[in-house]
Amino acid sequence: MTMQLIDPFQRAISYLRVSVTDRCDFRCVYCMSENMTFLPKKELLTLEELDRLCTTFIRLGVKKLRITGGEPLVRRNIMMFFNAMSRHLDSGGLEELTLTTNGSQLRRFALDLYKAGVRRINVSLDTLDENKFSNITRWGRLPQVLKGIDAAQDAGHRIKINTVALKGFNEDELLKLAEWCASRDMDLTFIEVMPMGDIGNENRLDQYWNLSDLRSRLSEHYTLTDLLMNTGGPARYVRMEETGQKIGFITPLTHNFCESCNRVRLTCTGELYMCLGQEGMADMRAPLRDNPDSDSVLEKAIRNAIARKPRGHDFDYSRNAIGGRISRHMSHTGG
Ligand code: SAM
Ligand code: SF4
Repeated sequence: MTMQLIDPFQRAISYLRVSVTDRCDFRCVYCMSENMTFLPKKELLTLEELDRLCTTFIRLGVKKLRITGGEPLVRRNIMMFFNAMSRHLDSGGLEELTLTTNGSQLRRFALDLYKAGVRRINVSLDTLDENKFSNITRWGRLPQVLKGIDAAQDAGHRIKINTVALKGFNEDELLKLAEWCASRDMDLTFIEVMPMGDIGNENRLDQYWNLSDLRSRLSEHYTLTDLLMNTGGPARYVRMEETGQKIGFITPLTHNFCESCNRVRLTCTGELYMCLGQEGMADMRAPLRDNPDSDSVLEKAIRNAIARKPRGHDFDYSRNAIGGRISRHMSHTGG
């Protein structure tokens, strides 16, 4: 029997997030600069290579696969990859195949994703105001995303909305967003903005809205009950009693969530990041490409990488400075 992946802090690695492209049809101000230079195509793993890598991780005990990017649904022929991964759901090797998307292409793909076995989709949405949406995403259009969400719910997907909490931007929409999600039976998770990548002239400290403040404002209007569920991820959850809805808070900056971390991240070029908030990575592309007929070198490279998984990250916005800054973009590592 294959031995499971256990890191030096006795955390079992059961969750792989895969960024299938660094490209995107939006340019969210906290994520990208307007003029991004994207990777040349030859640097990217092919869909077949992504399949081989993911399949190897699943053989080593990964049970949950989240596909992200960049915008995963703009990768050419991406449904081939989802369809290929669904064989692992059928065999029971994989328990869940999920997706994080900006929603722009969901209308086109919602049904096919459902047929491939995807059941839950995270859609990123920071505002319900059309103008503000255009400003924050630079290139996005809100109605297109809303139609995507409709299509996904019609197809049977459970939707969770991810909202980056942005000072002076969506503070005034806190209740509106929570109530809109409740009315559509969608959970909602707020994310603190993280210091990742060069974003041009934007200032991170100007964007940062502490989620403790957000939570206390929400609790002035709703009864929030802490939920003990632990997903192994950075989110802490409460139930909004009046609506029954789950609200998550991803607070890498005000709280450290690392002790139960069960995940690693693979970029579209085959770099394996053992921690979102650290620069350390291991290249999987060379062991993959240099050994087309056997996965044993690749397996060894994965095990060696997991043996280097750090205890946690060093993000810090205290003392009005940005500590633990990470040079790569979130769209490269996959959020
Ligand atoms: N394009 C897809 C999307 O927007 O959902 C998937 C990739 S995107 C990088 C994944 C998530 O990362 C999104 O929810 C986005 O809001 C979040 N994100 C991007 N840059 C961030 C940052 N600097 N801090 C916190 N969250 C960020
Ligand atoms: Fe694209 Fe997602 Fe980054 Fe926005 S957050 S620019 S949608 S990758």
